[in-house]
Amino acid sequence: MADDKKPEEKNMVQEGQAASPEEMKKEKIRLVPNEDEKYLPMNVEITCGHCGKSWKASLQQCVNISLHPEEKGKILDSSFFRQKCPFCGVDSELSYPLLYDDMGKALMIYLLPENTEEMLAKINKQQESWSPDMLKAARICTMRAVRHSIYLVEKIKIFDADLDDRIVELTKNFIFVRFMKERPDVDARNALFEQQNGKNGYTIFAADGKTFWAEIPEGVYEEVERMAEPFLDKKAKTEYELIDPVWAHEMLGKMLGKGDGS
Ligand SMILES: [Zn+2]
Repeated sequence: MADDKKPEEKNMVQEGQAASPEEMKKEKIRLVPNEDEKYLPMNVEITCGHCGKSWKASLQQCVNISLHPEEKGKILDSSFFRQKCPFCGVDSELSYPLLYDDMGKALMIYLLPENTEEMLAKINKQQESWSPDMLKAARICTMRAVRHSIYLVEKIKIFDADLDDRIVELTKNFIFVRFMKERPDVDARNALFEQQNGKNGYTIFAADGKTFWAEIPEGVYEEVERMAEPFLDKKAKTEYELIDPVWAHEMLGKMLGKGDGS
């Protein structure tokens, strides 16, 4: 491959290239970029939402926190997704596809903020040309997709707490419903997993910007785990999965539908 190609063209197969179809496929599709490409920046133009001026910036497409542990903190405090405008100094929030790779935990999370389902289908389809070794590696990995950086942060916190994100999502549903019953005065909109003082629970976000803390009562996570166990997919998967409140809602339908025997 010529060295003068722009980074974004590097993984594309050029027409008329003399490589065999297999080689071309291998060249084009990778589970994780090669070491030398991993930190290949994506050159973009950012327009400031405050003053409207534009500037050029380089964005990382992948973070490997086993190699660069300091980047995990930047993702957790969301500074990773902010760029200061060089003209007016106001921070802009960035939203773009990013692969989070934690080799130590065999965890890969793909942030796909736009056209999530479409992008996810495209990425998962690429597996058709993965090598057996890549598929083997993928089978032992937990692979997730998320729609927003706040859910990327939530996933990191869930796996840091050594919990199963599927059970955390299902438990969230129960805790959220209970919270709404107990606090009809609050217009609760969203809940995100968090640990506070060593306890597992959810930060609940209300429409007016207020936040509330709802701890997972002792034994509830375990009970949900027992209930969900017969319904969870046990086959090792090699695809990125969206495990979110929509997934939980569908799973609860299956669990509760079968559970009452009617
Ligand atoms: Zn600006």
